Amino acid sequence: MNHNHHHDGGSFRTFAENEFGYVGMCEGCRTINVAFQNSLFCLTLDQIGAFTKLIADRLTMRPFCTTHGKKLILATPVPNYFLLFSEADLANLCSLLTEAAPILEAERILELSRLN
Ligand SMILES: [Zn+2]
Repeated sequence: MNHNHHHDGGSFRTFAENEFGYVGMCEGCRTINVAFQNSLFCLTLDQIGAFTKLIADRLTMRPFCTTHGKKLILATPVPNYFLLFSEADLANLCSLLTEAAPILEAERILELSRLN
């Protein structure tokens, strides 16, 4: 997804934030931004539900056994690039997504009603 335009404060709405990241929407292109640690996931309103389920239910994650505690591995579309999560990471990311979920669902319904 091409998303190079600037996000100035006026065009970005924050739905949830904590010390690890935030969830919000770019008003310009209505892309949902899930920023967590140094990752940025850019999703549509239709994709965010599946993404939240993927993280909450740990779908497609596999055990990754090292002595370092980052015990779950998630493949990305980029070859040779993976995301690792500890239990604490997942809890912190889920907390952001759960907090934002009702607002995102309301936005999705609003968007559907605009199209009809
Ligand atoms: Zn945008």
